[in-house]
Amino acid sequence: MRYAILGDIHSNLTAFQAVLQDLDSRGGFDRIWCLGDVVGYGPEPHRCIELLQQYDYVCIAGNHDWAAVGSIDISDFNPDAAQACRWTEQSMSLEDKEYLKGLPATISIGEFTLAHGSPREPIWEYLLSVGQAVDNFQHFDTNFCLIGHSHIPLVFEQQSDTVTLQNFPDGAVLTLGKNRLIINPGSVGQPRDHDPRASYALYDSKTGAVCHYRVEYDISVTQVKMQQEGLPDFLIQRLSLGW
Ligand code: ZN
Repeated sequence: MRYAILGDIHSNLTAFQAVLQDLDSRGGFDRIWCLGDVVGYGPEPHRCIELLQQYDYVCIAGNHDWAAVGSIDISDFNPDAAQACRWTEQSMSLEDKEYLKGLPATISIGEFTLAHGSPREPIWEYLLSVGQAVDNFQHFDTNFCLIGHSHIPLVFEQQSDTVTLQNFPDGAVLTLGKNRLIINPGSVGQPRDHDPRASYALYDSKTGAVCHYRVEYDISVTQVKMQQEGLPDFLIQRLSLGW
């Protein structure tokens, strides 16, 4: 089976479509593992949910998914994120909202745990440091954990008592072995590692390889739609910067 690992789509339909096209050009996939934040920030929440639902997939909740349906408080959101969140709520159908409300916080599938932020605190924690990773390795039972939320592609590896942090650059291939890993494939719809290209990973269970890819997409298409919807300028500009 080939699994497309997609995190933080953030209502960016153009980026999502570009990633699906890239997957097709690489021989396709069988199922999507979606790491949450399907909506929030971007201009097309409904269409992103609708497109995801056309595939064989599993999806967990991100903070923006639950914030947009009132399941969590947005008082911690910065003003731009909060404005985009209110706009997102208004632009979704009732079915979209029921769907997002019903997403689970974590899922375990075989050797993998899926959690948006971290296994310890699935909705809110930004897992970026080795110190945090050391604790988080104690909060899931499987060998591997897939996370999103920080929008930064990276890999934590646990080897006996040591945890190391590695970058996960474009074209990198991780071969799964005995060492436990926490893997972040980066963000499809709003990358924040100063590379504006959409970011995702592809796992092939036959070979045990997790490959990381970056995909160019027409950022201006998303930006024009955001302008038309009156979404905050900062959120529009940051897509060009990949931050
Ligand atoms: Zn996010």
